Amino acid sequence: MYLVGKINVISTLPEKFKRLNDIAYNLWWTWNSEAIDLYREIDLELWQKVDKNPVRFLQEVSQKKLQAKLSDEEYLSRLDKVVASFDSYMSEKNTWFSQNHSELTDKKVAYFSAEYGLSEVLPIYSGGLGVLSGDHCKSASDLGIPFTAIGLFYKQGYFSQRINRDGWQETCFNDLNISQLPMLPALNANGEQVRISITFAGRTVYAIVWKVQIGRINLYLMDTDVAENSPADRSLTSRLYGGDQETRIQQEIFLGIGGIRVLDAIGIQANVFHMNEGHSSFMGLELIRKLINERHLNFNEAMEVVANSSIFTTHTPVPAGNDVFPLFMMDKYFGDFWGQLGLSRYDFLELGLKNPEDQNFNMTVLALTLAGRKNGVSKLHGAVSRKIFGDVWPEVPEDDVPITYVTNGIHTLTWLSPKIKALYDKYLDRDWQKKIYSEETFANVNSIPDEELWATHVELKNKLITFIRNRLKKQKLANGESMEAVRQVDNFLDPNALTIGFARRFATYKRANLIFRNLARIQKILNDPERPMQIIFAGKAHPADGPAHDVIKNINDIAKMEGFYGKVILLENYNMTVARNLVQGVDVWMNNPRRPLEASGTSGQKVCINGVINFSILDGWWCEGYNGENGWIIGDESEFDNENIQDNTDSESIYDTLEHKIIPLYYNVNENGIPTEWVRFMKNSISSLSWNYSTDRMVKEYTGSMYVPAITGNSKICDDNYSLARSMCGFRSHLNSNWHNVQLFAEKSAGDLKYYKTDSCQEIYLSTTVCLGYIDPSNVIVEVYYGTLSNGKIENAQTAEMHCDEKTGEGTYRYSINLKIFDGGEYGYTFRITPKHEHLINRFDTGLIKWIR
Ligand SMILES: *Cc1c(COP(=O)(O)O)cnc(C)c1O
Repeated sequence: MYLVGKINVISTLPEKFKRLNDIAYNLWWTWNSEAIDLYREIDLELWQKVDKNPVRFLQEVSQKKLQAKLSDEEYLSRLDKVVASFDSYMSEKNTWFSQNHSELTDKKVAYFSAEYGLSEVLPIYSGGLGVLSGDHCKSASDLGIPFTAIGLFYKQGYFSQRINRDGWQETCFNDLNISQLPMLPALNANGEQVRISITFAGRTVYAIVWKVQIGRINLYLMDTDVAENSPADRSLTSRLYGGDQETRIQQEIFLGIGGIRVLDAIGIQANVFHMNEGHSSFMGLELIRKLINERHLNFNEAMEVVANSSIFTTHTPVPAGNDVFPLFMMDKYFGDFWGQLGLSRYDFLELGLKNPEDQNFNMTVLALTLAGRKNGVSKLHGAVSRKIFGDVWPEVPEDDVPITYVTNGIHTLTWLSPKIKALYDKYLDRDWQKKIYSEETFANVNSIPDEELWATHVELKNKLITFIRNRLKKQKLANGESMEAVRQVDNFLDPNALTIGFARRFATYKRANLIFRNLARIQKILNDPERPMQIIFAGKAHPADGPAHDVIKNINDIAKMEGFYGKVILLENYNMTVARNLVQGVDVWMNNPRRPLEASGTSGQKVCINGVINFSILDGWWCEGYNGENGWIIGDESEFDNENIQDNTDSESIYDTLEHKIIPLYYNVNENGIPTEWVRFMKNSISSLSWNYSTDRMVKEYTGSMYVPAITGNSKICDDNYSLARSMCGFRSHLNSNWHNVQLFAEKSAGDLKYYKTDSCQEIYLSTTVCLGYIDPSNVIVEVYYGTLSNGKIENAQTAEMHCDEKTGEGTYRYSINLKIFDGGEYGYTFRITPKHEHLINRFDTGLIKWIR
């Protein structure tokens, strides 16, 4: 039909409802279910039609329905309560941060991430990384961190997934309608929408900036869809992880370099810059360029400043997973840039090369080189990162590689079912929501009566089953399946059967179909007449990941087979809405990645707060979270060289644990039909995990170990016209130019030293002669490095600083120590020297280290 024109009718809200509009534009509603209720109650049908989007809801709601609510006293009083709670949240001055760091409330942390999973309404995330960024922002708001987030606006978001009749994934992209999003133009001091530009590869590209309010903090998103840009540039930011490497490098230039320009254009002076994953690491280069340009520092001085103010979080446990760009592409986009830093092409490229022969510029290496503080996202991932990035610091032993860890968490109130929240409101301390990070908060979970917790869980499980059936029917109708096939969906899933959930991105290392490795055995488990089981799958495969598509197809085929039909379910289009329903409604959450490739994993953290129990490989966060009584493990901590053997061992472990532990526990019910031992596991899981794997704990930890030290470091380094930056450069260059003369000598002990441990512990005298040349002893640390011997190598190394006894000649000194070793065994030891300076963030970062030869 020919459209003559469009008419946009915008409802005007009665005065009473104006505040609902303020709340619609602040994602605070995403973690305050009482606010969500206020919209959906006005018109449930419309609420579902607009995909639970409050902004769009208010645009389309009928005036009549609003009027009707105006006479509902009970509704109006709840409205007042929600508005009051929103206002008091927004104006709260007494936050965790202000209580603990009152002197730093005027500082600012800028956080950079390529994706943000805040709500399904704003689908600019692909999976765990994005959801983590979103949850990080929400907790930063809750804790009162002075915080601003930076990202890109992807007009077409990430793709929507369809699984066709044959079981193949199809991707579709739709333009988001900006006027319906919880997003407003970011305005500058003149009240105009902020706009930035970047010149690269011989042209200038512009972007406008949008503002998303997340409680007390803002997220700014860049969007290149503006009239001044060429059609190709207008679509530069249209898709998350879309396009080729050219698109990717340009998006990352915007994220990193553009992000800094956005902060400037808005007038935000950040003290700390947090790169969440390597996509934004060009940011450091822009900071350096500005310091050189505006503050007249040289490159090394600027590096010093940037190191002190920047933080890098890596999420990738495999070298191949890192973002890299071929050098010719770096030439194309940065050919004009290195000159501005006073660098040669070679010195510039070296910032991102893992080794000098590399032909790819590595964004992770760049971030590791520039950021002064670096971390992985679980204890195990920290260790894996130290191993795989060890070659950035040759000579530094793995344990000392300067990458620490902060284990991921989830934003509790975002993922918590309102029904379980009501139980916590009833049985936990009144202000439990303000102390989610504290262990004591959840200790009272044991006072929730078993019947009540179980009944709530059963209710949520039934709700999930209805949700799944509805989606499956739509899925089948869209695929043109017969009415009979659609009708059969009503018999899918048994509310009484043990229900396993498995949902995450379909990356092959996550091994979604591992449980089908022995089809006969799993079929028997699923079909036990007394104790049946069922499994729900969901997940998207990256469009370019062929093997992952095969996994989807494989699960889809199995789900159609006799003995699996109606018991193995594959839901399409995994997103935050599907995730929320699943993590609140299944009995067990299964995760079986190929260890140690799961950096952290967070979906398992979303389930524990809802009384769902984890069954997982000892990888990522579960390696720390599992305590023997709060869930189950698959396999053990073994490492495998052979993937086939690993898959066999792990799948056998899945079957054994299901058959001997999980299923018997679930079906062991008392006279009232309550599986009391199971409920005990649920409670253990809630009380031992909820607080620790929350982003409240995580952001608190980032604040304590990263943000506050970086704020302090940054203010010291900038003080007095960067005098510390200059003197640190002097220190480094003095050490760099004299380090080749540094040597250690020790007389090899004639035979093995033999000591007897006694109660009082005998001291072992060790000494070494050190040649420092022009370096002063106050500028180095001399250490004994020792540990038990295994195959001639030192294991479980420990160090102890040695004392400088005397000057034995020009530039040479004698160092010694009286070492105490408490445990018997065969030990090896050696000596080493590293730099020492009170303002070095991490002495191993300098790469300067000398061992005895
Ligand atoms: C939480 C979440 C993830 C992360 O899941 P993992 O199991 O940690 O990989 C991915 N996608 C969505 C939609 C999520 O909500």
